[in-house]
Amino acid sequence: MRSLIDIIDFTTEELDALIRTAVDIDADPAKYAECCKGKKIATLFYEPSTRTRLSFEAAMLELGGSVIGFSGAGNSSASKGESVADTAKVISCYADIIAMRHNLEGAPLVAALNASIPVINAGDGSHCHPTQTLADLLTIYREKGRLDHLTVGYCGDLKYGRTVHSLINALSRYEGIETVLISPDELKLPDYVKKDVLEKKGLPYEETTDFEAALPKLDILYMTRVQRERFDDLAVYERVKDSFILTQEKLDLAKPDTAVLHPLPRVNEIAVGIDEDPRACYFKQVYNGKLMRMALILKLLGEAQEDRANVRKAEIQAVCRTKAGRTCPNPKCICHTEQELPAYFRNLGGVDRCLWCDSEM
Ligand code: ASP
Repeated sequence: MRSLIDIIDFTTEELDALIRTAVDIDADPAKYAECCKGKKIATLFYEPSTRTRLSFEAAMLELGGSVIGFSGAGNSSASKGESVADTAKVISCYADIIAMRHNLEGAPLVAALNASIPVINAGDGSHCHPTQTLADLLTIYREKGRLDHLTVGYCGDLKYGRTVHSLINALSRYEGIETVLISPDELKLPDYVKKDVLEKKGLPYEETTDFEAALPKLDILYMTRVQRERFDDLAVYERVKDSFILTQEKLDLAKPDTAVLHPLPRVNEIAVGIDEDPRACYFKQVYNGKLMRMALILKLLGEAQEDRANVRKAEIQAVCRTKAGRTCPNPKCICHTEQELPAYFRNLGGVDRCLWCDSEM
């Protein structure tokens, strides 16, 4: 069964096709209004969300389908100790497609391996957020007319900001992308993105703390909030939380057509006055996110008609190994709580990484 767990599950041709569908939906929504009649999406949100959950629900409703689900682990059988694997099997009996958000990294992959319906990763811990990336790609495409030959700056929390990880991964597959990583030292991009994506592909990037010097170079400025909920030590959060704030004065250092993106929610990292600046694109991103989720639901439900059962399991078994005695060092990885989950790892660029969360083993 085809799912979307990591943005690299889709080829660039598939991403481009999703963009075309989303643009067409926007131009002629009536054409799509009954495409999912009789179908249900289950939104299984173990962690807070406003945009992602409601945009999945709005997307399915606008396609003529319906919605079931829960928001908050406390409202589900997870609070009684049910595993993600069992929940995925149960929900497969009620719905046609699942969108799952989980605080544990790798949980949507576990669900995909156990569900008999497609699973969409709606954000797993600090790991990935592929459908936010779909929203980001459509926004960049609409603002710039292309997804290649761009200088993209990421500013804020590059360590815990899962949307950054997925977007860097997606853009790394387009020609001529230059990356500027602007963060405090404590919040630098993790190695599974820096080494395994940027360095492995030989893509140019720089790491800096000098926001003002970076701004004039950027075609895209991707701001993120510092992810308070991911810090083990809140004193560190307090120290870094106001490291980079985009004010009008700073934005005036950027090009007249730099597009400013932010996955939202904003805390204080973009001054509210900037919302009126034509370069501010973050509310357009929200709208684009709904269109891309509509295109994604159509694609996955369409493919679910085909017999693709167990394709992912076979793919994983082909590339992964397990070794007794090796465990993932990431305490937030799903492998520590899910029963009997093998300590799968794969070798990426000479480094053994956990299959579920990408930590170095
Ligand atoms: N909404 C995004 C996410 O779920 C960004 C954020 O929470 O800061 O990752």
